[in-house]
Amino acid sequence: MSETKFTPRVFSGIQPTNHLQLGNYLGAVKRFVEMQNSGIETIYCIVDLHAITVWQEPADLQRATRELAAGYIASGLDPEKSILFNQSQVAEHAQLGWIFNCVARMGWMNRMTQFKDKAGKDREKASVGLFSYPTLMAADILLYHTTHVPVGEDQKQHLELTRDIAAKFNNDFGVDFFPITEPVIEGVATRVMSLRDGSKKMSKSDPSDMSRINMTDDADTIAKKIRKAKTDPDPLPDHLDGLADRPEARNLVNIYAALSEATPQAVVTQFAGKQFGDFKPALADLAVAKLAPIANEMDRLMQDPAEIDRILAHGATRAHAIAAPILEKTYKIVGMVR
Ligand code: ATP
Ligand code: MG
Repeated sequence: MSETKFTPRVFSGIQPTNHLQLGNYLGAVKRFVEMQNSGIETIYCIVDLHAITVWQEPADLQRATRELAAGYIASGLDPEKSILFNQSQVAEHAQLGWIFNCVARMGWMNRMTQFKDKAGKDREKASVGLFSYPTLMAADILLYHTTHVPVGEDQKQHLELTRDIAAKFNNDFGVDFFPITEPVIEGVATRVMSLRDGSKKMSKSDPSDMSRINMTDDADTIAKKIRKAKTDPDPLPDHLDGLADRPEARNLVNIYAALSEATPQAVVTQFAGKQFGDFKPALADLAVAKLAPIANEMDRLMQDPAEIDRILAHGATRAHAIAAPILEKTYKIVGMVR
């Protein structure tokens, strides 16, 4: 299928669970802003319907939704240039999600590793929504005929499923209707790891707050978390190859590189032979310098929740205007009487 038929359009989303963390910022939000400023049409979503696949206290969900909107804007997202809204205000997401539940196969869904990770040992007690999460995500993306989706590395498998769903829909109905979307997983921070365990990704929902840097953390908290981050006793090598078997050290170097917009090799060259006793304070200073202005701006925006709600409602109106005709055509293709 030729992709030229579809004009370039970017969509991505983040769940309003807990607080935005550094991995979300470096792997997602920072890149969303770059794409917005590259002139391409950009649509960014707060995926509240995804958030409730695990239990959320209603008051916390409301706070996290507004806080994530504030985080997007404080990081440089411009709600006029980009479309910014929360998913539940555009009903077409759930509607197309249902169609895709009927396109995706159980065999495909059973291979999704995020479900296995999040459901844990007691799979019988996981919500049905947690299992069908990837079909709703495919709907989020394809509802806008999205061509490019910037995400972290952990979402690669869901993007592949989205492509499979688009291809099967097109093939089943003999149409060239949904694009085969390209994942955009780029940069040194596509997988920021937990500060406590170099084999686990940093996550908003990790039970340990020490495992991550929240975008709302103050300077002392950031410094403390970096000081206590798991490392090893060796000094930093002069070449990146020396970090191959040192995941925790590699992670801190990557974070430094992403925050300073340098390459990881440039960072090890700068700190070659230094102990973590020297490197960690430098990283903490850098993190505070980059993140404190964002946290302060989030704080300021959160003082006016009515303004945030107004921005989200405005974004939802714009998103709906794109989504409604695409859903309508989808229903017609499927054979629904309209
Ligand atoms: P949760 O624990 O609730 O799943 P999360 O931190 O994984 O939260 P998501 O809302 O699931 O955040 O993901 C939002 C975006 O951030 C996605 O594009 C995802 O790939 C990216 N992302 C999440 N964690 C990381 C990470 N550690 N490094 C880089 N990107 C990440
Ligand atoms: Mg996640």
